[in-house]
Amino acid sequence: MNTIIALAVIAALVVAAVFLVRSALRKPASTPNQGHNHDHGDDGCGCAHGDQGKADEGEFHAVHSGKDTTGGCKFNPDEVRRTHLRPTPPIDVTNLPAKDARIVAAHGAVTVAGITDMLNQLTGEVSTVINGKTVKIASRNTHNKQLNDALDWVEARYKALGISVKRAPYTVRGKKLENIVAEIPGAKNPSKIVIVSGHLDSTVGSPWSNENIAPGADDDASGTVGVLEVARALKDHKLDYTVRFVHFTGEEQGLWGSYKYSDQCAAAKEDIVGVFQMDMIGYCRKPGNRVDIHDGEDANGSHELVVALTRAAAQYNLDLNVVDTHNHAVDNRSDHAGFIDHGWKAVLISIEFTDDGFDVNYHTRNDRVSEMNLPYMVEVIRMTIAGVADFAKIQ
Ligand SMILES: [Zn+2]
Ligand SMILES: [Zn+2]
Repeated sequence: MNTIIALAVIAALVVAAVFLVRSALRKPASTPNQGHNHDHGDDGCGCAHGDQGKADEGEFHAVHSGKDTTGGCKFNPDEVRRTHLRPTPPIDVTNLPAKDARIVAAHGAVTVAGITDMLNQLTGEVSTVINGKTVKIASRNTHNKQLNDALDWVEARYKALGISVKRAPYTVRGKKLENIVAEIPGAKNPSKIVIVSGHLDSTVGSPWSNENIAPGADDDASGTVGVLEVARALKDHKLDYTVRFVHFTGEEQGLWGSYKYSDQCAAAKEDIVGVFQMDMIGYCRKPGNRVDIHDGEDANGSHELVVALTRAAAQYNLDLNVVDTHNHAVDNRSDHAGFIDHGWKAVLISIEFTDDGFDVNYHTRNDRVSEMNLPYMVEVIRMTIAGVADFAKIQ
């Protein structure tokens, strides 16, 4: 063994030791009762839960594997930490088509000022006028009556855009709730449906109680505004397929609105070609603007949507690092899940899901507009506009 090899071996041992120590430090403090069974009190996710969290058997279609998991703890950092991020094959971003001038114009219309205005109204930073009444939307908790103000607010935005919109009611645990569904009918194959979605409800960690303050700026006012911006960008263009914009409620209680809505789509035998869910798209404190797209490891062929989004970001030179994750921590943690369960293609577009990239204000009163990275969010919305326009076949 010569000196150089000896030094190399020592260096390797030091690296290995550091790695082992770091791995040990990163292990959750208590190992029994990890995961999302939530049987024994607090598991560190800051949620009040327990038996309240169990969805009643039979309330949802049998396809939903996550229906008996509790809500309100989606994106628990511990769960993300435990999840293996598998390396994914690179996506080909060569041979890109020329930029479409209509999409470039649509991108120009998505601005920090525009999204700030909407986010401020949705999160109670400023008051807003709903049906002639001045209101401050301080909470969008599913059990809070102010959720109805938020529903009215979203509905009014679609009406102002000239896009047909309706409430889609559902019942869970005897409680009558509503999603919002708006739609641009397809010009060529209207029976083929692309869904762009987010969840309107919010929580500050106790989704089972009536939280009076729950700003939920990143989670998920950001997705709500993103969906509205995609609608605004596409409304004046002819698309082969129908594009439907859906705002779910009851997400924080266990994906109630999306499980029910996907069941309704399945019962109506609808032909859903792809679901683009935006949940938490406005937080980024690291350089590099990483955005994660979760396809459940190509569940039902959902990788096709990841490719569309990744190529869109490259085609339009967006300031984003698009990461194709195979992070199973999020499989049943946002509204794309119900659609995957029914066999459709669906992805979740979100912020970076790692220890140091995750939103530090997640499910707290500090999830406010001032904490967000709005230029980053603009880029994520632009990517979604281009990806959805392409996927729905803009003419
Ligand atoms: Zn969320
Ligand atoms: Zn949440």
